Amino acid sequence: MGNLLQPCLSHAPLHDNTLTPHGHRVGDDFRDGEDEKISLKDFSKKLQEFADAREWEKYHTPRNLLLAMVGEVGELSEIFQWKGEVENWEESEKEHLGEELSDVLLYLIRLADICGIDLTNAALNKIHKNAIKYPPPL
Ligand SMILES: [Mg+2]
Repeated sequence: MGNLLQPCLSHAPLHDNTLTPHGHRVGDDFRDGEDEKISLKDFSKKLQEFADAREWEKYHTPRNLLLAMVGEVGELSEIFQWKGEVENWEESEKEHLGEELSDVLLYLIRLADICGIDLTNAALNKIHKNAIKYPPPL
């Protein structure tokens, strides 16, 4: 079977001048010092625009996105493999680590979006449930 996962999110350039079907430019509005204000919904919208601009929606099925995310978890794992605990990351390693963590995060956000999950609410609810399940010691 062909490489259905080729149109993946992990090879997206940081600045993408592709126009979305709505005439917006993909990739130009979240990297000018406003990073701390980006919500998960913003990322979802950005990823939707990215997929729309490339007509990749058809590839972004839950199964494909999950498998792509697991592949990225594998790439992330390779950074840690056979090293023992790393005390200080070299800058090049940190850049690579950031890229792979981002790949996992972006696929997770896209997967949640495609599945109709509000990841912000789901994560907040899960933290709340965990706090009840594992109360701090008195
Ligand atoms: Mg990767």
